[in-house]
Amino acid sequence: MKYLLIFTILFYCIDCQKQQFTYRFSDGSKRKLEELKPNISEKEWEPLRIHFEYLSSNYNENYTSYITEILEMVSIFFYRFLLVKRMNEKITFKESYPKQFYGFQIMQSLMDQQYDADLVIFVNIENSTKFYKAYCGPTVYDELSLRPIIALMSWNINYTKIDKTNKIIYESNLESAIHEIIHGLGITYDYFSKYYDSVTGKNYENPNFYKQNNITYLSTPRLINFARIYFNCSNLKGIQMEDNGGPGTSDFHFERLLLYNELMTGSQLTGNLLITDFTFQLLQDTGFYRISDYKPDQSQWGRNKGCEFVENYCNNNNFTEFCYQKNIESCSYERTGQSICMQEILSGQCMYQQIYTDQFCKNDQNQVQNQSSQIITYYGSDSICLDGSISPIESYQKFTCQKFKCDINNKLKIIIGDLEFDCSQSGPIQIPNDFFGNLECPNNPENVCLFRNDCPNSCGLKGFCINKQCICSKGYSGLDCQQICDGYRYQGSCLQNCPNLTYPLDLIKYCIGCPGNCLSCSNYNQCTKCKSGYFLREGFCDNLLLDKELDSQNPEYINENNNPQSSDTNSAEIVISTNSNIFLMCIILFMLLY
Ligand SMILES: [Zn+2]
Repeated sequence: MKYLLIFTILFYCIDCQKQQFTYRFSDGSKRKLEELKPNISEKEWEPLRIHFEYLSSNYNENYTSYITEILEMVSIFFYRFLLVKRMNEKITFKESYPKQFYGFQIMQSLMDQQYDADLVIFVNIENSTKFYKAYCGPTVYDELSLRPIIALMSWNINYTKIDKTNKIIYESNLESAIHEIIHGLGITYDYFSKYYDSVTGKNYENPNFYKQNNITYLSTPRLINFARIYFNCSNLKGIQMEDNGGPGTSDFHFERLLLYNELMTGSQLTGNLLITDFTFQLLQDTGFYRISDYKPDQSQWGRNKGCEFVENYCNNNNFTEFCYQKNIESCSYERTGQSICMQEILSGQCMYQQIYTDQFCKNDQNQVQNQSSQIITYYGSDSICLDGSISPIESYQKFTCQKFKCDINNKLKIIIGDLEFDCSQSGPIQIPNDFFGNLECPNNPENVCLFRNDCPNSCGLKGFCINKQCICSKGYSGLDCQQICDGYRYQGSCLQNCPNLTYPLDLIKYCIGCPGNCLSCSNYNQCTKCKSGYFLREGFCDNLLLDKELDSQNPEYINENNNPQSSDTNSAEIVISTNSNIFLMCIILFMLLY
């Protein structure tokens, strides 16, 4: 069987330097940023308003209408999840601002406007053969908070498929947009050294990043805390950033081998990207943002694998995340597709299973392409790759995509036609006698359910999926965003008023609960009691004991058993809550700090 080749596109370009493309502040603004100290305001944290403006009115209308739709959806995403302290005034162009960004001239009419927003992103559309899909970076920052207030984004239409019917393409374009905007929010190399504690306005005690063997490691406190628990590596000092891919990709992104399909790694893989707490905690570590009510995606990659994983990756042939025999086919690590063992630009010497584009189980359009044989397959958001095949005739395949569901106890069931098969344990499925073939339940079947992130119908071209929940575009609700709704949206329902203990976000018509990792609150931006393992600091819950905690090399606060017990909680919370020692130690340290 011939499969389509796998093709990954870098978010950033590879040979940027050749093209005189620098993805950085001008020398002047960079120097000034380096000298400035943050001056934090007493203002409340409010939802992040992003305003988009096209740099020119001459772009092809097909492109602008599609990209506008994408950008409107992602602005709902950011408004829904991120909070900022707003500035005292609207964003206006000051004399001192550069008149062009990354080589793009800003039209006078755009400079004359006042923008009632927290971030203005100028958008360029290009059609170039340069090997990147999009890029984005901050260009102007607020001189008090140091937070970026103007950014520039460029879309390369050459690698952006404008397909209004394909859910997977739509989702991947949303992911690209969110990824790029996160750079625009200040997740760029120039900014690393400027991150600060938003509660005190001071620098974190340890440097925000360091270099070792020419590789960059981010070491901001919430990120490190989360990572230590996630990997079960208590002496983890820094999160390795990408060292491949060239300028613009390396240093700016999480290392592929460490975080695999995290949104903020340097290229887009076939398969779904995850927005995990690595990204959310880093956003909070900038000092510019707080997180409102959220549930990040859950990853299995490297989870609980210890410092050995973080330090050596594939080098000792120890971990099933990687594969060790080139060109061997199998189901991918997360069983979301049929794959082949290969290296890629960002994988260095390691190899992992890369999904064939037309064998990605979660793309329902692959069903059509694979219909020719009589082998039974199912493609869709609720599909999983299994070893073996089943067919009414004597026809066999090594791997197939099959429908699955998880019952309320997170037990895995495989569904073939009207039949349901128990896969709560690994081993062969008893297929009916009148079928040919064999099918195997996966190893560790509970993980399929525990780390499930997919949404019904992949949010049906009307929403963005994060941890099993669709964030729907304006005017839609329902579990897969297919219901027209002119009221407020809350957990798939369309309501006239927000339910008790939730708070309305009028602009995007969403009801949300307490801020991230908070147990009870008086508003969406004012926590009064945090979930265990988190600490209340000025109305928000931090996973850390800033500063001093990072110096303490006491391994006790990492619980050995950090398997998630429920699919909709995030790992840090689970770990610490099962260990009262940790909790106590945290409180003591916390008190020492104040
Ligand atoms: Zn990027």
